[in-house]
Amino acid sequence: PYDFLVVGGGPAGSAAAIYAARKGIRTGIIAEKFGGQLLDTVGIENFISVTSTTGPKLVQNLEAHVTEYDIDVMANNRAAKVIEAREEGGYISVELENGAVVQSRSVMLSTGARWRKMNVPGEVEYAGKGVAYCPHCDGPLFKGKSVAVIGGGNSGIEAAIDLAGIVKHVTVLEFDSKLRADEVLQRKAKSMGNIDIILNAQTTEVLGDGSQVTGLQYTDRTTGDSHKVELSGIFVQIGLVPNSEFLKGTVELTPRGEIIIGAHNETNIPGVFAAGDVTNIPYKQIIIAMGQGANAALGAFDYLIRTPVP
Ligand code: FAD
Repeated sequence: PYDFLVVGGGPAGSAAAIYAARKGIRTGIIAEKFGGQLLDTVGIENFISVTSTTGPKLVQNLEAHVTEYDIDVMANNRAAKVIEAREEGGYISVELENGAVVQSRSVMLSTGARWRKMNVPGEVEYAGKGVAYCPHCDGPLFKGKSVAVIGGGNSGIEAAIDLAGIVKHVTVLEFDSKLRADEVLQRKAKSMGNIDIILNAQTTEVLGDGSQVTGLQYTDRTTGDSHKVELSGIFVQIGLVPNSEFLKGTVELTPRGEIIIGAHNETNIPGVFAAGDVTNIPYKQIIIAMGQGANAALGAFDYLIRTPVP
């Protein structure tokens, strides 16, 4: 059994495990894929103090740092269920999909999130070659160019406003007949000179020249006509889904499925903490996930020294 067991091996989980191991407590990580979303990330330019790196390179560095400590990494394992301790201070159980059960006095959940995809031809092929999901991360790569934002909810219109300050022109494509974003964001977007909004637009294909995005194709749902837009980048903003399905009925989640945390990254279950993109923190970034992981490990350590074993 462990003192601190991390579920999820991305930036949040790695940071938490290192902080915990440095306290000399028995620490383990269960991860479906060590590295998490970093494995799908091409360039990273906002990991402060590292001017420019790639996702796979950062994963290597995380792995090297984790291996410096006495941390059991149980990779290629998916958690299926978390079972609360019978008494406070007792062992919390994490059941794996293969039926094994791992026990720990404290648990940190950092299973991350995934961007909802358009599922159209070209999207996967051009991911990182013009198809992007994170305006904070990739916006500056499109300086002076034309881009599209797919989705007219709050995140889509926030992205359009953000990008309009950097790029030449933004076209927002919304599937519905109206935008779902807050009125104040819509007003701001409409007041900017370089944002066009197209409603009733169903994106059907990402177009490219084999190495980079060159445009997109959409169908006007009112007329059925197909149109082409020439551009260099496509920001897909149709939802970020937390990987928390396996937690339903255990820790408290928001209606969107994000784990609700407090100032020590604690959940509603004693001894269970959470950090990173799977939680209700508003901004999802590598540096934020790592900071949160560190905070959760310190929160858990504080819990362990104050909670006697029953
Ligand atoms: P994740 O990285 O999502 O890791 C989750 C971990 O949990 C993984 O190990 C996963 O395998 C595991 N897991 C999930 N479910 C289970 C389960 N049931 N059992 C066991 N393990 C499980 N951020 C930046 O700051 N800068 C960037 O440039 C940047 N670019 C990005 C580009 C792309 C294409 C994407 C997708 C994201 C990008 N981000 C960027 C966002 C950044 O990657 C995330 O904010 C960060 O990875 C979140 O870390 P995390 O540890 O919370 O979760």
